[in-house]
This record gives sequence, C-alpha cells and structure tokens, in this order.
Amino acid sequence: MKALIIVDMLKDFVDGKLANPKAQDMIEPLQRLLAHARREGWVVVFSNDAHQPGDPELKIWGEHAMAGDPGAQVIEELAPRETDIISAKRGYGAFDGTGLDEQLRERGVDEVVITGQHTHICVRHSSYGALLRGYEITIPADAVCAFEGVSEDDALEYLKQTYGATVTSVDELVGSPAKVTV
Ligand code: ZN
Repeated sequence: MKALIIVDMLKDFVDGKLANPKAQDMIEPLQRLLAHARREGWVVVFSNDAHQPGDPELKIWGEHAMAGDPGAQVIEELAPRETDIISAKRGYGAFDGTGLDEQLRERGVDEVVITGQHTHICVRHSSYGALLRGYEITIPADAVCAFEGVSEDDALEYLKQTYGATVTSVDELVGSPAKVTV
C-alpha cells in the first residue's frame, strides 16, 4: 500500500509568512497526483506544521504556521478530505513525535510518496524518518520544491544518495499502470 504524503502545502508556505514563489509551479502537478492517489485508493496524508509558541525552529524562521492560524491551513487547491490523515507536526520531520508511523502501519502502508515543501528541509527530514522506519521512498521531482536559490538538483540527489529514494515525476506515477500497481 502506498501513501501520498503532502508536506507543508500551507498558506504560510505558499503565499504567506514564508512564501515561496516556486511553490506555485508545483500546485498543478500535485493536484494531478492527489487525484490519482484518491482514484487508486492510496492513503493520503497532509503533514502540516502546527506550531506552538516556543517550538525550537521558530528561533530560526520566526513565527509561521501557528496552530489554529489561517496561515497553518492547507491551500484551497488541495482540499483535504475527512478520510485523509491530517498529521500535525512541530518540527521538520513528518514522523517526529507525530504518531504517523503507527497510523500508516495500521493501514498497511509500505511505500511513501513524499511531496510538498521544502525539498532540502521538511521533505528531507521526513524522508529520513521514512528510511529509519523501513518505508520505500518515492519523490516526484515536480511535486516538491526548495527555496529559491537552493539547488533543486542537489537536494534531490541527496535524497537519492543518502536515503535510497526513487526520484521520478508525477507523469510517471500517474501515467504508467505498471508503476501504480501495488
Ligand atoms: Zn515550521
């Protein structure tokens, strides 16, 4: 079973406090992948920053995606559903202190397709969490993005080299029946 994990596609990270202009380009491919995941019955996870005052990384980035604030909501284009796993996190990694591993195991997930932001920060730490817990990792390059000025290629190469991630594209995941068969 596969899970699509969408990391931090929140208003603050798209056009809010930590806006990333590059994120606009990945909304459409991510929508296509999300629709595909729903059709195929994958588990869908929104791994969302939901910070509390005093969370360590706020020293670095300033306040962002504070729990309950409008900026901590998933962008409207991706519209989470009630059956999705909405997983709140207070640091970079989707698996760090969130209970996500247990939720995925209950549903028989053994492969995670990790998308969202940012390739070199939360996607990276979430990939490490997935590696430690024995999941196969797939990263569609057009459904992740780093900050402007950070090399996307280097960030993806790191995921490949260090975590054994398969780097692919949304078209490949959506288009090829061979690739979506579990
Ligand atoms: Zn954060």
